[in-house]
Amino acid sequence: MAKQFHITTFGCQMNEHDSERMKGMLESLGYAETGERGDADLILFNTCSIREKADERFIAHLHDAKIIKRGRPGTVIGVGGCWAQSMKDLVFEQFPFVDVAFGPGQVPKLAEFLTTDSISAQGFFEFEGFPAHLPTKRERPHQAWLQISVGCHMKCSYCIVPSTRGRHVSRPFDELVAEAERLVGEGVVEITLLGQNVNAYGRDLRPEPRNFAELLRVVGEIPGIKRVRYTSPHPQDMKRDVIDVHAELDTVCQHIHLPLQAGSSRILKAMRRTYDRERFLDRVAMIREGVPDVAFSTDIIVGFPGETEEDFQQTLEVCEAVQFDSAFTFIFSARRGTEAADITEGLVPHEVKVERMQRLVEVIQRNAHERAQRFVGRTMEVLIEGPSRTDPSRLRGRTTHNKAVNFEGFGEPGTFTTVEIVSATSQTLMGEQSLVDLALR
Ligand code: SF4
Repeated sequence: MAKQFHITTFGCQMNEHDSERMKGMLESLGYAETGERGDADLILFNTCSIREKADERFIAHLHDAKIIKRGRPGTVIGVGGCWAQSMKDLVFEQFPFVDVAFGPGQVPKLAEFLTTDSISAQGFFEFEGFPAHLPTKRERPHQAWLQISVGCHMKCSYCIVPSTRGRHVSRPFDELVAEAERLVGEGVVEITLLGQNVNAYGRDLRPEPRNFAELLRVVGEIPGIKRVRYTSPHPQDMKRDVIDVHAELDTVCQHIHLPLQAGSSRILKAMRRTYDRERFLDRVAMIREGVPDVAFSTDIIVGFPGETEEDFQQTLEVCEAVQFDSAFTFIFSARRGTEAADITEGLVPHEVKVERMQRLVEVIQRNAHERAQRFVGRTMEVLIEGPSRTDPSRLRGRTTHNKAVNFEGFGEPGTFTTVEIVSATSQTLMGEQSLVDLALR
């Protein structure tokens, strides 16, 4: 019987994609995936280290694996991802029951470890190129991640990514286009281009530098592709050439995730975000001029060291000015090895952070609710994802604006339909499948 593996993935889309590659690689080695951690011969964790909470949550899972291994001594436990990279050999000192640890850039080393009868625990933490040769086992057959670069060259003072994923390295242009064409050939209708800062794509390519707008256009023009998304752009590097591609190609989705982080230029400077409040608002205006109906999502950190009530008010003001369609909001927590972790002045008390977070969420939800009303009464094209999470008798899908839609109707995951939107909350649109489409099914 095939050996079984179980993977738990924490964190960002990058990790979700790395886990898809791990699964593809393990299946090519003859392993089979199990949904039960307790039944697995190989228990894997793909970790995140962007926030303290992530570490705490993961450690609880790791102890569960320790108990399983106590009952089944042959079980192999492996820890990959950013937390493993940030800890390196400390993993084995603090958790001696772990057999293998590897950084985000070392996924192929897991196969090496599993195919050699190593009796001692092993760690792999070098940054090596992108494992494009690894097979991928996708979560959704009709949607795919396409990682266009590894690492990041920016120096945001709170961020651990440059130290856990290394410097920015773009993947070769032709290799990416070939992979995108292959994915479309496999029935993928929606591709999401992944990078820590997608706007930096191609600058480092030699002998001929390329740029992100070129890549977006070429992928968006592949026959058979229906939708192209990307994450994350950087407000400093977002240029008009990217917006022109949005405006010219229907396949490029009308949603842009533009991380703000803070509304105060003083705090943005302390975060080393390289743009100020005016630059951010200017980018938003430029984007709305080119793509008037675009949906904006963002990331915001509350309670960065030194943040005063006045600074926080500026964050709320930018939110009111932009009216984001959605936002990921975080309470600042210092990450070991980052510049911000060494700041001792002006630390914001936890209860103040929590109180500010409540006010921010109120503003975000109110804006998102108001923004969502613009879809009511419109007929939207929806990519069906499957049954609704809240009501299995309804279907769930997504618009080009990345808005979730729950609707009554028929259709297979990975197919498109049109839905008349009848109501909207801050998160979800509700609708009915258009009669035309109903008649066709
Ligand atoms: S751009 Fe900044 S926040 Fe984003 S991954 Fe790079 S260093 Fe981190």
